[in-house]
Amino acid sequence: MQTETQTSSAMHAPGAILLISCYELGHRPIGLTRPLYALEAAGFAPDVIDIAVEPLDAEKVARARFIGISVPMHTALRLGVHLLHNIRQINPDVSICMYGLYATLNADYLLSHGVDFCISSEASTRLLALVKSVVADERAEIRGSCPTVVSECDKADGTDLHIAELPPLEMYAQFEDGDEVRTVGYTETTHGCKHLCTHCPIPPVYDGRFFAVQRDTVLAEIQEQVVEGATHITFGDPDFLNGPTHGLRILRAMHEAFPNLTFDFTTKVEHILKNREHFREFAQLGCRFVISAVEALNEQVLTILEKHHTRADVQEAIEIVHGAGIALRPTWVPFTPWTSLEDYLEIFQFIDTYRLVYHVDPVQYAVRLLIPPGSYLLNRPEVKTLSLTLDEASFSYTWEHPDARMDELHKTVNTLVENDARAGVDALETFYRIWALAADMSGKTPPEQRKEVHLPAPRLTESWFC
Ligand code: SF4
Repeated sequence: MQTETQTSSAMHAPGAILLISCYELGHRPIGLTRPLYALEAAGFAPDVIDIAVEPLDAEKVARARFIGISVPMHTALRLGVHLLHNIRQINPDVSICMYGLYATLNADYLLSHGVDFCISSEASTRLLALVKSVVADERAEIRGSCPTVVSECDKADGTDLHIAELPPLEMYAQFEDGDEVRTVGYTETTHGCKHLCTHCPIPPVYDGRFFAVQRDTVLAEIQEQVVEGATHITFGDPDFLNGPTHGLRILRAMHEAFPNLTFDFTTKVEHILKNREHFREFAQLGCRFVISAVEALNEQVLTILEKHHTRADVQEAIEIVHGAGIALRPTWVPFTPWTSLEDYLEIFQFIDTYRLVYHVDPVQYAVRLLIPPGSYLLNRPEVKTLSLTLDEASFSYTWEHPDARMDELHKTVNTLVENDARAGVDALETFYRIWALAADMSGKTPPEQRKEVHLPAPRLTESWFC
């Protein structure tokens, strides 16, 4: 039997801890880098694998005594669960922890399918504590899940020591605007969100809280990625304008240090309206596009999703952002149980009217409302009347649209978008094909194609959706 000292030195050995990221929307995964830096600062020497850009390295898996798998989003969780089987085959006794937004929401399923521990967001501190418990050989007591709702900010820090080799930034999504291509770095200035949109996975974990990340930590992450070649930074905060003063201070300091760096961020329509006076400065500081979760135009759908904006607000937000010389990239949830065929068609008309075709990734036309366990949507009276079935293995409730044509349309659009993306079809072609398909289904004449009015917009080469 090993003594505590032997376990401790074994856990500090290079590669004894392995952190695996499954998917983070095509950018360098912060769910990997921040826990990695915190563990390195505490004297551990973890290995890392990002299976979004590199294969699962069996040697690294075999060498590990503790494996942390980052699952910050639904796609990542599905990939992570698939990985479990491979990992257990290579290394049956390794301790496995899943961490991130989707881990504790699905803890019951994960703990009964080979995961030893589930940690919610703000993972670095808890991951460090967990690893120390494994060092102290307390594994029997630590098996299980920590609370889903996080009540305090991650305090583990480690921006100085970087030993593990991360995949180069060139392997991730790039910024594109016509012929202009930039290497993209990634950071977050805040965690969580102060809003409670019912369809979003963040409220069940943060319950209306958000935490600011220390300015020096964010600036150090930016600087490090600039040294690696980044010329554009994505601020991936759930909502960058939850703390506008904090964000602006960081942007000003970043611009002073790296005047040619460009950036993008994500914020809600309501925040664009409230912070309208800052958008010209954002543009001067290098902002090239802003992502905003518009999701719908129909008033009832917006009410159920508790978005706190209206169609008129969306129009105003476009004017504010475009008026400052920044592109607005709206995201959508066009398939919900309450979105009619007319509503779907209206979204296309709106995108066409506001010349937004190149501002929307075609995958957005196929997004279907996801209701995961713990979703705040389950508290809405409109959802209580739906016939929902929990599909544990796909980590969401299934629902059917009362108008069967919408489910049929969703399947067709999904296939069309996938095939077009694979064949490299221009987003404009895909847009008009889907619009014509939906118009045909509703017995309307096909739309008039105004191809000449839609101009390319800045984007990342990986499609983004909330
Ligand atoms: S959708 Fe955006 S604004 Fe709403 S809760 Fe989620 S992160 Fe916050």
